[in-house]
Amino acid sequence: MTENLFVRDNLARIREQMETACIRAGRPTDSVELLAVTKTVAPPLINEAIAAGVTAIGENRVQEFLGKKDALELAGVKTHLIGHLQTNKVKSIVGQVDMIQSVDSERLAAAIGKASAAIGKTTDVLIEVNIGREPQKSGVLPEQLEELLEKVAATSGISVRGLMTVPPILETEQQKRKIFSEMYQLFVDIRDKKLDNIDMHILSMGMSGDFCEAILEGATTVRVGTAIFGHRQY
Ligand SMILES: *Cc1c(COP(=O)(O)O)cnc(C)c1O
Repeated sequence: MTENLFVRDNLARIREQMETACIRAGRPTDSVELLAVTKTVAPPLINEAIAAGVTAIGENRVQEFLGKKDALELAGVKTHLIGHLQTNKVKSIVGQVDMIQSVDSERLAAAIGKASAAIGKTTDVLIEVNIGREPQKSGVLPEQLEELLEKVAATSGISVRGLMTVPPILETEQQKRKIFSEMYQLFVDIRDKKLDNIDMHILSMGMSGDFCEAILEGATTVRVGTAIFGHRQY
């Protein structure tokens, strides 16, 4: 097997940066989970990341993930779907991942609940929020979050664990922190309402270009691809 030491080196550097951000934020250094984003990455390289200690991976596309899954060494590794999910793909992914991070409609939640119940499972989900109100992006608008949560809470077969967001690409640390702090405020507001059947523990935000800012503003999971595996070749 070829040793791609760069993956190991990148992971070590990212973990160090995550730790530094935690210390800067006055948070425990083990309070943020690193999710390795493996879209377009070939299984041998993903397996090297796992060998180097990655315990959670995220994929965007159902077909791609199912096509690679058998070649992955997933013992002790959690799998997340982080990309937009179409209702017609729900049946093929439910039961195949540990969490779906991209739920943004009642219809999608209902489909996931139904498919999960059919196989006697409950699927953990995050609600995706379009914090930057970008028309081209998926995610529920901040002002519609509570209404969606109330509807989704009653759905059997799914369990809401928190929120996820992909914010606009911003330039400065200050701009990045501002949008993450808006997201954190939304997370805390909802958490403090203690809605029935809603567990608000996970805040998934921050990618290669902004995970430190996300940690400074309260992320509990960061989703990092490029900084681990290099630039993606589509
Ligand atoms: C691709 C992707 C990431 C990782 O982005 P990088 O910039 O490569 O770290 C994180 N979250 C989602 C939803 C993605 O699609």
